[in-house]
Amino acid sequence: MNILEVKNLQVFAGDKLILDDVSFNIAEGESVVIMGPNGSGKSTLALVLMGHPDYQIKSGQIIFKGQDISDAKPEERAAAGLFLAFQEPREIAGLELFPFLFDAYKSLRTARQQEAGSVFAFKKELDQELESLQIHTDWSSRQLNQDFSGGEKKKSELLQLALASPSLAVFDEIDSGLDVDALEVAGQAIKRFKNDKTSLLAVTHYQRVLKYIKPDRVLVMAKGKIVKSGGPELAAQLEQEGFSFLQ
Ligand code: ADP
Ligand code: MG
Repeated sequence: MNILEVKNLQVFAGDKLILDDVSFNIAEGESVVIMGPNGSGKSTLALVLMGHPDYQIKSGQIIFKGQDISDAKPEERAAAGLFLAFQEPREIAGLELFPFLFDAYKSLRTARQQEAGSVFAFKKELDQELESLQIHTDWSSRQLNQDFSGGEKKKSELLQLALASPSLAVFDEIDSGLDVDALEVAGQAIKRFKNDKTSLLAVTHYQRVLKYIKPDRVLVMAKGKIVKSGGPELAAQLEQEGFSFLQ
């Protein structure tokens, strides 16, 4: 069964065409990686899947779990089980991490008709995740991504991933800016998330994170289109040879 079907998606930002007839599916349990030169539309695709208001779908559809979500609000997509880890997570001054995470957790659970759970149960789960991600517990009283290093921002996204328990996670360069140790921690978080039922769509430039992601398929984007698809060996080839074949 397909968890995601992207059908002939044509997307504009204002009058600029960014995604041009993009189609692909992701099956339940599948891991798909997207590679491609800078500016090819990878982040736009990730943001459009989540419903970012900067982008207008002019034609085509996004089907998630059999429902057309092309016009759904981001929070409705999140409740349905979609999650995006941003390439460049926003810093939001004044938004303290603990209440933000607890509110998001409660909203998602309520929307999914699960028991909201007490603040104590949440705190326990949060502390476990902080430990697994090797994040200092001081974090809970910090403000969202405010003065976080690049690596800390990526861990903050993975913390949100764990607490959101989505069925399809989209990672936009989750591995960029991570040193070797942080990459290992991030990789383990990705592995904890991934099972037979959960699916993954990961934008990356690097082979090194594929040790943890283990893609079933690799798609190549260029100039707003999917121009090539293949197995995991394609990722190795692209990292070695670059995208010169596209010219
Ligand atoms: P990638 O993630 O593959 O590097 P992006 O999706 O970030 O590429 O960008 C694809 C193209 O769309 C680039 O030319 C970028 O400048 C343009 N673009 C992205 N977002 C917007 C926007 N909100 N308004 C105008 N142009 C945009
Ligand atoms: Mg990008």
